[in-house]
Amino acid sequence: MVATFFPAPASYTGEDVVELSAHGSPVVLGAIVSEAIQAGARLAEPGEFTLRAFLNGRIDLLQAEAVADLIDAVTPIQARAAFDQLEGTSTRAIAAIDAALFDLIARLEASVDFPEEGYHFVQPETLASAIDDLIDRTAALVADARRGRMIREGFQVAIVGRPNVGKSSLFNALAGAARAIVTSVPGTTRDLVTELVDVEGLPVTLVDTAGLRETNDPVEIEGVDRTRRALSVVDLVLVVLDQSEPLTESDEHILLQTSDYKRLVVINKTDLPSRRGQRSLPSPGFAVSSTTGDGVAELKRQIGAALDAESFRDRPATANVRHIALLENAHEALSRARTAALADGQSLSEEFVLVDLQSARAAFEEVSGRRVPDDLLAEIFSRFCIGK
Ligand code: GDP
Repeated sequence: MVATFFPAPASYTGEDVVELSAHGSPVVLGAIVSEAIQAGARLAEPGEFTLRAFLNGRIDLLQAEAVADLIDAVTPIQARAAFDQLEGTSTRAIAAIDAALFDLIARLEASVDFPEEGYHFVQPETLASAIDDLIDRTAALVADARRGRMIREGFQVAIVGRPNVGKSSLFNALAGAARAIVTSVPGTTRDLVTELVDVEGLPVTLVDTAGLRETNDPVEIEGVDRTRRALSVVDLVLVVLDQSEPLTESDEHILLQTSDYKRLVVINKTDLPSRRGQRSLPSPGFAVSSTTGDGVAELKRQIGAALDAESFRDRPATANVRHIALLENAHEALSRARTAALADGQSLSEEFVLVDLQSARAAFEEVSGRRVPDDLLAEIFSRFCIGK
């Protein structure tokens, strides 16, 4: 057994930490844990180490959340985004805005406290432009956070098409594993089947649907309903056509139904002779054979391009709904502050500006965790695994 001592404050949690390492026999490890417990130790709660690091000021809440995101990362882009956040990229951006806000608030407060000086500490024209600058920086953070949420939560790509065109086969070819049931009886894929796959580094949930066929069969109707519901939240639709058969009314119907979505038309079964006819398609089609795998790699690249994978690779960020909502609040409060600042010459306008600047600041502090309710902390850390 090896014992490593990390003295405070340079350890992960900021406290004195001793790490015991031993060979991985569960019996030996179990015996070490029992000995430790007998000597007064207890098992850690989920996320307790990271919570302590947060409470001791080693990391802020954004970085603590990044630890969980890093553990959950399934693609390299997700891991890099989480790592960047752990290193403090977002923390520094927010701290810089917060420092500028703090300075502005201090000068405005001085102006309010000494009214006879008027806007002595901050000129009205510099006030509005200072707020403008903060609004721009916050807007950039909101945009990054929205992209970050996509990276964190991934994209939904639905595969649709009439029965038997090869949706499940394409799903399997893209997923690289035989997960969905493949059958030659039309209309037998009744459940949505999903699989998380890595497309050009983006986490993509592929959804194999039961098809958009109009039907009276209750089970099938349920499947079709689910397809419609799935379509309402997808980022991209793959419409599969079977080139070994002429286009049917069903195909036309599905093409029409999906015309408002971001979509790629996939012409499947290119290993079979074409009987599709000369009818031109409303969008360009990508030819693949789900059976031989021909064209599938290129289709994956096209899916990546349609989802704009390149833009996510530049400056990956990780963010969740909590960050986005708070940053949007900050943005709104700053916009209100700007309106109040421009209500020049009206009495009390500085007070209004102040109230709004302070609520923007409160939102930033909640993002970084400097001001955050205990129950929210408990919820955030309960998502962690034990030992982190
Ligand atoms: P779905 O109903 O749209 O999900 O279609 P399936 O994936 O179940 O496929 C229907 C039938 O077409 C099965 O017999 C598959 O083996 C066959 N099939 C699917 N893709 C191809 C392909 O690219 N080439 C050939 N030759 N057959 C395919």
